[in-house]
Amino acid sequence: MSIRLPLQYTYAELPEALFARLDPTPVAAPRLVRLNVPLAEALGLDPAALASAEGVAVLAGSRVPDGAAPMALAYAGHQFGQFVPRLGDGRAILLGEVVGRDGQRRDIQLKGSGRTPYSRGGDGRAALGPVLREYVVSEAMAALGVPTTRALAAVTTGEWVYREAALPGAVLARVAASHIRVGTFQYAAAQGDLDALRALADHAIARHDPAAAEAANPYRAFLDGVVARQASLVARWLLIGFIHGVMNTDNTSVSGETIDYGPCAFMDEYDPRTVFSSIDHMGRYAYGNQPRIMHWNLVRLAEALLPLLDADEERAVAAAKASLGAFSDLYHAAYLDGLRRKLGLAEAREEDAALAQDLLTLMAEARADFTLTFRRLSDAAEGDDAALRGMFADAAGLEAWLARWRARLEAEPMASGARAAAMRGANPVYIPRNHLVEAVIEAAVSREDFAPFEQLVDVLARPFEEWAGLERYATPPQPEERVTQTFCGT
Ligand code: AMP
Ligand code: MG
Repeated sequence: MSIRLPLQYTYAELPEALFARLDPTPVAAPRLVRLNVPLAEALGLDPAALASAEGVAVLAGSRVPDGAAPMALAYAGHQFGQFVPRLGDGRAILLGEVVGRDGQRRDIQLKGSGRTPYSRGGDGRAALGPVLREYVVSEAMAALGVPTTRALAAVTTGEWVYREAALPGAVLARVAASHIRVGTFQYAAAQGDLDALRALADHAIARHDPAAAEAANPYRAFLDGVVARQASLVARWLLIGFIHGVMNTDNTSVSGETIDYGPCAFMDEYDPRTVFSSIDHMGRYAYGNQPRIMHWNLVRLAEALLPLLDADEERAVAAAKASLGAFSDLYHAAYLDGLRRKLGLAEAREEDAALAQDLLTLMAEARADFTLTFRRLSDAAEGDDAALRGMFADAAGLEAWLARWRARLEAEPMASGARAAAMRGANPVYIPRNHLVEAVIEAAVSREDFAPFEQLVDVLARPFEEWAGLERYATPPQPEERVTQTFCGT
């Protein structure tokens, strides 16, 4: 049997400076860890074919399907504030694009698929741990309703990769609305290649902002679109306690999807200064800094787009400033809207921001678990506030806040059961807590036991439904289970 995938290559119509054509490097012994069957079906792919020996070989990069013409994409990026003019897919290859059942075009990328012209000193490979982390967390994000790249499959390669130690190698098949990053625009702009820049922008508009093509200034409309999507995205991150960890401009997608799960982590105890990434010494990408950094990244996008915004530089700068000026209001509106849903409020009142902020302050003082506090607040909407009270040593402070909250709820009469149900739909019970993720990686890497990984993926697919018997997945880490540092996905 010869596998056929309906792969397309609209990106290959762009100027050649933006990519390099090459095949993935075959691996010794591909073995399927997990195939995301519902995602494969949504993409119009045949899960049985993908799970066959030949399909697994394709997912591992050992076999190139008939008619495929894979490519590595070029991009630049600001890494921790420093501009690097040439990064690119150093350990990833775009297998091709597919149009899913919903009519949307998406990329299928193999991450860990071998060296490319953009590999610099790297080996082009990925270790099993980071591949499983990206699978778990990106799929959890999707289930939590956050725009994100998806995991189509994880395979092991039967080869070792050498980091501080020899680790089992793996490849992640990743699906994205596109892999066009802020850094992709920076790359085209830094080349001084205006034609490539314009072609890239037109391509991105066709994929992500088709309506912008009809606007008086399509490139301004595109920038407005990216600003709006990223303002909404970073608000969603904060609302579920997510810390990306490496918000470099090459890890910021113009589609508005979360991309590049490296040292990412979910916060347990609420503290806006939380940092997990072992390489983020200054706390640049701390939880509470993420909106500010996203704005910074968008300024870099606007700079790259300047020559397209207007032939007159002053007018171009004015257009960029107007577009970027919308970020703060869009972000704050999305964040406050989300906090209202978390508090069980459907209407907007002036005092809501302070009400939410005062709870967060109490949580920070109590070092209360972010996810569990809101989940137990959902129970409190039905009158059961014992578990919530148990989380706060400052009983009087919480008492006073609960009285304000209940008074505010009375302004929006609703059956308490319905309110609690709505709140439980906004406040997940299961998130990919760091200690859980580390434990499944440990089982897979050191014991070749993938059952804990499979179970965690399954639990996180339904993050809002609480089930008896799954308490372990809802509970913050015990002191000895705490994970304080995460490492990059290399
Ligand atoms: P990241 O910080 O993981 O987003 O990656 C930054 C850059 O380093 C990208 O250009 C990657 O392609 C490249 N890179 C990361 N790991 C490797 C590797 N093992 N081999 C080659 N390139 C890599
Ligand atoms: Mg990256």
